Amino acid sequence: MFETVGNMHMHTPYSDGEKSHAEIAEDAIKAGLDFIIVTDHNIWVDEVEGYYENGDGRVLLLVGEEVHNPRRQPQASHFLAYGAECELASFAADPQRLIDETNAAGGIGFLAHPHEEEFEPLLNLPNLGWHDWDIDHFTGLEIWNTMSSFGNVVKKRMRRLPIQHPFIAKLYALYMTYHPERYIVGPEPETLALWDELLAKGKRITAVGNSDAHGTLMNLGPIKRVIFPYEFLFRAVNTHILTPQPLNGDIAHDKRMILRALGKGHSWVGYDLAHPTKGFRFSGQGIDKGIVGDKIQLDAGATLQARAPIRANIRIIRHGEVVAQIENETHLTYIPVEEGAYRVECSILYEGKERGWIYSNPIYLW
Ligand SMILES: [Zn+2]
Ligand SMILES: [Zn+2]
Repeated sequence: MFETVGNMHMHTPYSDGEKSHAEIAEDAIKAGLDFIIVTDHNIWVDEVEGYYENGDGRVLLLVGEEVHNPRRQPQASHFLAYGAECELASFAADPQRLIDETNAAGGIGFLAHPHEEEFEPLLNLPNLGWHDWDIDHFTGLEIWNTMSSFGNVVKKRMRRLPIQHPFIAKLYALYMTYHPERYIVGPEPETLALWDELLAKGKRITAVGNSDAHGTLMNLGPIKRVIFPYEFLFRAVNTHILTPQPLNGDIAHDKRMILRALGKGHSWVGYDLAHPTKGFRFSGQGIDKGIVGDKIQLDAGATLQARAPIRANIRIIRHGEVVAQIENETHLTYIPVEEGAYRVECSILYEGKERGWIYSNPIYLW
């Protein structure tokens, strides 16, 4: 299998982002990404897809869409659609219809930043998590969104500030943006719990991790600063996929292969800022052989194997329960005795604290 690294949630001036498609592609090349999917709010931008190249390399830029209902208050429940090849915004008022239309168009769809902290009035940061839970048939969850996770930490800290004043709050938030790595810990625990709950019900739910890059400029008195540049975010939380062939430069071929791997969950979410997660593997072996995202038969000889690129704390989790774990090692093997969805989490020490590092999609044993 061939490993490809991408980031699949970002914005341009077609919605509320700062940089153009070509400028974002430059930043993605600098950060070493193989592909990006640009997802402007409620607009599917046509005719920008393709390979963008410079002297340092190339990146495949694809276009998806982040859809929500702008008449809803707050404007929450954001849905990331990839591969539908059509405008989906007119279905936003009915989340189930939106999911169904995405699937019918041959696309895949993920609930973006599903859990956000409650409204932070000092900074005007509403809860834009997923609110409309009476839904089914979505491909998966964006379990880790760097911008949203950082925003959640900011909101929690704002509540504890001794002086509740908008200027102080903004100054403190600005201070935090100088060292975001100190505050990034991992996905929201509620999102991981929801994922495990859905997997325990026998659903196939695929996880992705993204930046949600906007390149927003923060203004505070004389200070004007891009608080989270695209390039920084492209070095943080990414989605790594495994494909049967390498990308060969043919746009249609490479796009099909990437979207297929994303939909099937042949992938993991990696916090590459803490240490590159390239080389991670999770596989199953019995009568069948399978990689992450595969469904394989549980027989008496079945084993699951996780391999991390450096020493880490590794856990194999079935429906929310840790069934095997090892500390400060590169390999973990487990002999499963029950059917179900098994996923891997790895954590490492970074910036003085144990941080979430790798979140693999499950291998489904039946
Ligand atoms: Zn969003
Ligand atoms: Zn977004």
